[in-house]
Amino acid sequence: MMLPLVPLQQLRSALAEQKRVQVLVQREDLVHRTRSGNKLYKLCFNIQYAKQHGMQTLVSFGGGYSNHLHALALAGQEEGMNTVGIIRGDYRANLTATLRDCQAAGMQVRFVDRQQWALRNTSEYCLSLHADFSNAYIIPEGGDNALGFRGTRLLGQQIGRQLQGLPPSGCTHVLVACGTGTTMAGIVAEMPAGVAVLGVSPLKGDDKLTAAISAKLVQASIEPQCSWKIDRRFCLEGYGRLPNELERFIRFFERKFMIPLDPVYTAKVMFALFTMLEADEFQPGDRVIVIHTGGLQGKRGYPKLMSPLHSSARLKSINIGAF
Ligand SMILES: *Cc1c(COP(=O)(O)O)cnc(C)c1O
Repeated sequence: MMLPLVPLQQLRSALAEQKRVQVLVQREDLVHRTRSGNKLYKLCFNIQYAKQHGMQTLVSFGGGYSNHLHALALAGQEEGMNTVGIIRGDYRANLTATLRDCQAAGMQVRFVDRQQWALRNTSEYCLSLHADFSNAYIIPEGGDNALGFRGTRLLGQQIGRQLQGLPPSGCTHVLVACGTGTTMAGIVAEMPAGVAVLGVSPLKGDDKLTAAISAKLVQASIEPQCSWKIDRRFCLEGYGRLPNELERFIRFFERKFMIPLDPVYTAKVMFALFTMLEADEFQPGDRVIVIHTGGLQGKRGYPKLMSPLHSSARLKSINIGAF
C-alpha cells in the first residue's frame, strides 16, 4: 500500500534556533481529506481485511468525540461499507458534532452505559454484536489490533521516506502522542539505531503504555533498533483536560506557526517539545521530528478553542510566557 507523503514542515522557532535544534513537523493531519492522521494508517489494513473476507459491516467503539469512529464512519461511507459505532455514554439528547458527522456518513450509533462499555472486549459481548449485525468485522477501540499495528508501521516507514530528501539524512528524535500506543509501536518498529522515539502520554495514572507497546513488538517478533520510552511528564491534569496553561500554549503555538493543534494529543506533544527545548534536553545539532497525528475534528468538543485564531482581544489578555 503506497500512501502519499505529507508536508514535513520546519518549525521556525527562536527557541529551537537558539538551541541549534532543527524541528520538523510531519503533518499527518493532512494525509487524507476525511481520515485524518494516524487513524488512516490504523484502519487501512483492517478495512482491506474485512473486504477481502466479505464482511460488509465495520463495528467499533469510542467516546462522543472519538477521532477513530469519525475516521471509520467516513472511510466506511467512501468504501461502500456499513458502519456501527458503540458509544460510551448517552448522547441522544445532545449529539456531538462528531456523532452528527458519523450519522451523516451512515454510521449506526448505539449508546451504552458504563457497565456495558466495560464488557466491550469480552467474547460474550462480541458474540452478541455478531448476532445483532450479520457479517460484522469488529475493530477494537482506537484501531488497536495487529492489523492496526501493521498500518502504523507504514507511518514509521513514511518518516524514513521523508528523510531521504534531507541532507544529512536521518533524525535523532521522533516525538509522538500516545493513546493506545499502536502508533508509537509502529514507529519504534521502523526507526533505525541512533534514533530515540519519545511517546508523550496524555494519561494520568499508572503507565500501561510501556507494557502495551512491548507486547505488540514481541507479538510481531520485532526487536527494535532504536531506543524508545514513554514520557509521562506532560499529561497536564489528565486525558482530555484543558488547564489554562495548555490553552495558553495552544493559542501561542497556533498563532505563531499557523499549525492547528487538538488539545488531547498534539498540543501535549508540542508542549513537551518546547519544555524539553527549554530544559536543554536536546543537543545542539539534533534533528527532531514531531508527528502531527491529526485529531482536529475532536477539537469541536472545546468550543473556547474554536474562536478565530487571531481574536486580538483574547490574545492581549494572554501571557505567552517564555517560548
Ligand atoms: C488516536 C490518536 C492518537 C493516539 O494513537 P494511538 O495509536 O492510540 O497511540 C494520537 N493522536 C491523535 C490526534 C489521535 O487521534
